[in-house]
Amino acid sequence: MGQEYAVFFHLRDLDVRAGRFDVEIAPGDIDFQLGAKDKDTNLHQAGPLRAQGKAELVMGSDAEIRVSGHLTVEMEADCDRCLEPARFAIDSDFALYYRPVAEGYGDEKEIDSGEAEMGFYEGDGVELNDVLREFILLTLPMQRVCRESCKGICPLCGQNRNQEECQCQAETSDDRWAALKSLKS
Ligand SMILES: [Zn+2]
Ligand SMILES: [Zn+2]
Repeated sequence: MGQEYAVFFHLRDLDVRAGRFDVEIAPGDIDFQLGAKDKDTNLHQAGPLRAQGKAELVMGSDAEIRVSGHLTVEMEADCDRCLEPARFAIDSDFALYYRPVAEGYGDEKEIDSGEAEMGFYEGDGVELNDVLREFILLTLPMQRVCRESCKGICPLCGQNRNQEECQCQAETSDDRWAALKSLKS
């Protein structure tokens, strides 16, 4: 039973006080296919996502919003090597900054050190689910493997080498050895 509403932080409210959140989001409530790369087609939550924190206007800024807190979730995606499901636990503090789109474009100001975590928002504020999705996508490792020692799929016969070794390995290395020998002679 996911929450039926989305938490939205409106500029008008943030101008008065910081917005606090403490949410538990069921798998499926956040669409991880939005803005995801091709290889992320099977990225999804493996369990509930819990997040606590606050959204606030950055002092002295022009409508810049900072969303910070702590997030815990277990994500699941296809292993890059063997294509079996791989789990990724995230248990981390986060802080993301959002500027209004209009201000961000054509802004000639010096890029500050926090720029890497700077996003943009359109309209009157930011939606918490968008922030959480963005943080998770930023945090997941570039290479997603079920385990460091994953042997992957044999490119010749398609066998998952974690389950059973095929004979292709020996043949290809023999071939390479033969090629090397003929080079030497
Ligand atoms: Zn794997
Ligand atoms: Zn094989």
